[in-house]
Amino acid sequence: MRKSIYFFGGGQADGDAQQKELLGGKGAGLAEMTRLGIPVPPGFTVTTEVCNAYYAAGRALPAGVEDEIKASIGRLESLLGARLGSAEAPLLVSVRSGARASMPGMMDTILNLGLNDEIARGLARRTGSERFALDAYRRFILAYADIVLGVPRDRFEEALGRARKQAAARLGVDATRLNAAELERKVPDSLLDPESLAALIQRQKDIVLGATGRPFPDDPYAQLWGAIRAVFDSWKNHRAEVYRKMHDIPEAWGTACNVQAMVFGNLGDDSGTGVAFTRDPSTGERRFYGEWLPNAQGEDVVAGVRTPHPLSRSGSGGANEEDDCSLEAKMPEAYAELVEVQGKLEQHFRDMQDLEFTIQQKKLFLLQCRTGKRTGRAAVRIAVEMAKEGLISEREAILRVDPGSIDQLLHPSIDGSAPKRLLARGLPASPGAATGQVVFSADEAERRAGQGKAVILVRSETSPEDIHGMKAARGILTARGGMTSHAAVVARGMGKSCVAGCSAISVSQGQMAVTIYDDHGHPTDTITVKAGDVITLDGGTGTVYLGAVPTVPAALSGEFEELMVWADAVRRLRVRSNADTPHDARTARNFGAEGIGLCRTEHMFFDEERIQAVREMILADGEAGRRRALAKLLPFQRSDFVGVFREMAGLPVTIRLLDPPLHEFLPQDEAQLQQLSRAMGVPVKELQRKNEELAEYNPMLGHRGCRLAITSPEIYEMQARAILEAACEVAAAGIEVEPEIMIPLSMTRRELAITRALVEGVAEKVFAEKGRRVDVRFGTMIELPRAAIVAGELAEEAEFFSFGTNDLTQTALGISRDDAGRFLGAYVEAGIFTKDPFQSLDVAGVGALVEMGRDRGRAARPGLTLGICGEHGGDPSSIAFFERAGLDYVSCSPFRVPVARLAAAQAALAAGSSRGPRATD
Ligand code: ADP
Ligand code: MG
Ligand code: MG
Repeated sequence: MRKSIYFFGGGQADGDAQQKELLGGKGAGLAEMTRLGIPVPPGFTVTTEVCNAYYAAGRALPAGVEDEIKASIGRLESLLGARLGSAEAPLLVSVRSGARASMPGMMDTILNLGLNDEIARGLARRTGSERFALDAYRRFILAYADIVLGVPRDRFEEALGRARKQAAARLGVDATRLNAAELERKVPDSLLDPESLAALIQRQKDIVLGATGRPFPDDPYAQLWGAIRAVFDSWKNHRAEVYRKMHDIPEAWGTACNVQAMVFGNLGDDSGTGVAFTRDPSTGERRFYGEWLPNAQGEDVVAGVRTPHPLSRSGSGGANEEDDCSLEAKMPEAYAELVEVQGKLEQHFRDMQDLEFTIQQKKLFLLQCRTGKRTGRAAVRIAVEMAKEGLISEREAILRVDPGSIDQLLHPSIDGSAPKRLLARGLPASPGAATGQVVFSADEAERRAGQGKAVILVRSETSPEDIHGMKAARGILTARGGMTSHAAVVARGMGKSCVAGCSAISVSQGQMAVTIYDDHGHPTDTITVKAGDVITLDGGTGTVYLGAVPTVPAALSGEFEELMVWADAVRRLRVRSNADTPHDARTARNFGAEGIGLCRTEHMFFDEERIQAVREMILADGEAGRRRALAKLLPFQRSDFVGVFREMAGLPVTIRLLDPPLHEFLPQDEAQLQQLSRAMGVPVKELQRKNEELAEYNPMLGHRGCRLAITSPEIYEMQARAILEAACEVAAAGIEVEPEIMIPLSMTRRELAITRALVEGVAEKVFAEKGRRVDVRFGTMIELPRAAIVAGELAEEAEFFSFGTNDLTQTALGISRDDAGRFLGAYVEAGIFTKDPFQSLDVAGVGALVEMGRDRGRAARPGLTLGICGEHGGDPSSIAFFERAGLDYVSCSPFRVPVARLAAAQAALAAGSSRGPRATD
């Protein structure tokens, strides 16, 4: 093992920003800031390797580490002229978790460690504030009891309430009719006087003794060992595990533990604490941005108990100076220093930074810096603007934006012109529109979402325990907390709509009371919203509406278009879209699709006017009856294809002939059967018999795909005719068409030879009738393992392959996607799959089949075009594989097209293939 401990302080640090793996993001940031000469309270980082060794030894610190920690404390003591355990010159420390990837609020941190009765008295003497010393002490006991001793916070609530009431009595406030929240607002922590605090501390200790059977530890070193162990333990707490799973953070990373000298933002009105971003994390605008609270300690700002003030003056000019609570107005020197530090850090790290700072009696200290989380919109704007400022290159800009996060930009927002009923306004914490049923707990959110309901999680404020509910909800609404509250930060990370700090609402006992204000800000009414009622959030403006509000499609920003141009310039893979209708085709083309990779014809069958004819076709006795029904379908199909070809003028359109088992189209109930019976003049009984005949034990592996054409060639004949007639019609109008006819589920050369002869026969007839020829390409899907294995033979007949990775995954793994829900979760949990193989390609298995199909296919036909059209075509990590595999294109749903374009560009940069020639059609 390397060194266990990395010291920072006095302008020097053992570690630096490169050592995130070893020191965690927080430790590496503290070391780097120290090196840059930025004021940081000194301390040291116990490495992630120690954490892993701790777990390997069954949760025990490795030998020797305790001594090294003691030595480092000694170093800290001589640097500061204070001592852990001394009452004359007490040293207090924080013990902070911090993993390689930022996991805000998921793990534990303990502040103010090193206090007991005697030291608290010493701290009071030294700072001249008994109130401050006792407040720090009671906070410490509370946090330590909760995190280290396992006595939950709520066990202390009543004691705290009593202390507030005592203080209220001394202040002359009538507290008899106030509930806990109102009492807290009337008597905030800063108004608790020394007597109430002393009594509270005693009660807290009694509670600890009662709950654990042992007195609260008085010895600062005992406290320290407990805290370090608890920080390591918190790596494996439930919420951290949930968060890791969501963000694909490996458990093996472990967390570091930072022990750092305390600085105090709660030493009076010339002290304070806050968080800042070097650019706006919501919009990406280049402006220094953040919030602070005077006379407060670190966690107060993020906990959202008090609503924080802005850092910078509003800039609205004439605002009343007295009311301006900004840091800029209250502490101009500290503000100016902070502005300088943030500029330095952004330049140094060449990315938007998220900072934590504390001001102790006018002196600024930085406590954390990390790459700031941002919305997709902000990510795009920041990357593009930084490239233009010359801070990063265009390539870096492309690599900076997580393709998954731009998804949210492409989604609809509130329709400004739709009628709506305004309910309340809060802070625009995370953009996007969300409509759903109100729920008041994370568990309820998860439960209802599990039933397929869209829900909005409404809370006074959220905490890390709510993470599973936030994940399940469409949007999040909180009554308290600012733009950097837990709810806001987590929602932005998830790309979910969030309105925070909506003070007009109050949540209690399973309902939400909303105060309605008139234009002058006077309350006029109260509305009660219950669980299950529908509301709509606009996270971009912070508005809450009653009921469901219609939405409009996304408008893409100039920066977004610019980034896409850069991405397209380095991308090798082409991006097509899966689109079944002219409308989808247009959407796809607007998003930059370079063709249609999959046009499913069966969706066209479900239309009300057509389904009747489809059913007649299926249930008809004999070929003649089938042909009669098919003749009715032909004009419908033809006009669909005309629409699609027109939208995709000049681009390839791959149309897949009928694929699903026929009984999917059959009448579902008695009424439909009756209707069909009348229309066809066939008795209901007869139809029922046919229905039963068609039923299959395992339809996925049944009579479907090109197997339909072997038994009833007239279906594919009709479809080929519709495609070719449409192509001729559109070509006649002077529009370039590139039809590609694709055969599903083939596994033998003979199947393709038969269907190809059929298509060619129809083509010759149509060309003769129309007196013109169009180029049409013939190809197949590769979605059975056998097809990949005999790809060489298939390529003799096919000019292109499209890997249908949904079915290929099902058939290669022998797992039905529709039934996998019951056990796939357990498979991911047990680490058998790292991700759901239907979302992210199983590279080792299915990927190998793709490579085999590619090699054998290209060996037989060098110009063979290769694409993929499964769900994986829009998944960034799968796209990286398709780039490495050298496919020609991916095809995904229209809204994923920009995601795929960006992911393909990133994959090309990563594979070093970006300068290679672009794929040819
Ligand atoms: P998290 O990872 O959850 O943000 P932190 O370790 O950053 O947890 O600490 C929680 C809060 O306590 C932060 O606001 C931080 O700034 C504050 N804090 C941590 N260490 C100190 C310290 N030594 N002095 C003052 N405040 C601190
Ligand atoms: Mg922090
Ligand atoms: Mg398929």
